[in-house]
Amino acid sequence: MLIQSSVNLKNYNTFKIDVNTRYFVEFCSLDELREALTFINQHTYPFLILGGGSNILFTSDFDGVVLKNTLKGKKILQEDEEHIWIKVQSGENWHKLVEYCVNNHWSGIENLALIPGTVGAAPIQNIGAYGTEIQEVLESLEALHIPTLHIHTFLNPDCQFEYRNSIFKKQYLNQYIILSVTLKLRKKPKLNYSYADVQQFLEQNQLEPSLVNIYHAVIAIRKEKLPDPAMVGNAGSFFKNPYVTLDHANTLKKLYPNMPQYPLNEDTVKIPAAWLIEQCGWKGYRNQDFGVHPKQPLVLVNYANASGMQIYELAQNIMISVKNKFNIQLEPEVHIKP
Ligand SMILES: Cc1cc2nc3c(=O)[nH]c(=O)nc-3n(C[C@H](O)[C@H](O)[C@H](O)COP(=O)(O)OP(=O)(O)OC[C@H]3O[C@@H](n4cnc5c(N)ncnc54)[C@H](O)[C@@H]3O)c2cc1C
Repeated sequence: MLIQSSVNLKNYNTFKIDVNTRYFVEFCSLDELREALTFINQHTYPFLILGGGSNILFTSDFDGVVLKNTLKGKKILQEDEEHIWIKVQSGENWHKLVEYCVNNHWSGIENLALIPGTVGAAPIQNIGAYGTEIQEVLESLEALHIPTLHIHTFLNPDCQFEYRNSIFKKQYLNQYIILSVTLKLRKKPKLNYSYADVQQFLEQNQLEPSLVNIYHAVIAIRKEKLPDPAMVGNAGSFFKNPYVTLDHANTLKKLYPNMPQYPLNEDTVKIPAAWLIEQCGWKGYRNQDFGVHPKQPLVLVNYANASGMQIYELAQNIMISVKNKFNIQLEPEVHIKP
């Protein structure tokens, strides 16, 4: 195990925030991870598990140990006529896994193509896009319990998945390191192209709805709509779409008849955060090197040398203006590291 001191994290987070960590350790095996955690316990340092750094905002230097996950490997556990069970180590790249599964004609995660980051971080916020979430295919996962260093298995219901949420962001926050994920994929594809953008793309390009075509449609739509972190620092959607009560939604509809609303059940309505932010005048906002993306108001951006604190304060100001105008409390999707 190599412990590096004073490492710059700019190339380890997609926001491209220029901060340092006191110590940096890459672990590529369970033994290395256990060794690193023992070192951390001995010195009582704070620590942080880092995957691809695509859902994190550093607001200052980190006075602790960054543990960079490079656990690699995948293995087919079982298959029958309909399904295949694949176990993937948590440091694998998520999009490469999607590509591998599509190339093998296994369906279930094609709608989640091009989401940056690692396999191990995917269940933490139950990644989702274009009408699919990882919870639909996740059979189980293995995670290291940090206080005891024991490995626990979580079956799908144990993860308590919700919209951009799981048990690992609630009562087990900072309690577990996800080591591997087992997905149950279909050999006979069950395609989901209900999402309007995907449907439209297939129609416009006169493509049959197939596994491969949906995969390419999602990639093309994402490239058109979302800024590439390699070009401009960002962490995808900064905020979750808020849920409000039906009463609240009805009151808002009277005031703002054009407000898009998506009823989830009898009592709850989802409102697109992007619409709320745009209505508050933030779309395309820029001050020095920080701002709100001109095409996608959910995405906050670092044009070059913005600090994490500048992005954080921008997020706070957006939340205040949405609260004042609509009485809706936005919640960040991105993990904010003080
Ligand atoms: C351009 C862009 C588009 C995006 N689009 C989407 C999208 O469509 N849908 C979506 O859901 N998300 C999206 N995201 C967000 C992000 O890609 C996902 O949340 C992704 O799963 C984060 O993975 P990561 O490895 O980069 O996590 P990191 O940013 O490294 O970590 C995120 C959090 O998870 C913790 N963590 C990481 N790995 C582990 C582990 N193995 N065990 C325990 N804790 C861990 C970290 O400590 C941190 O708190 C987007 C991001 C970008 C930049």
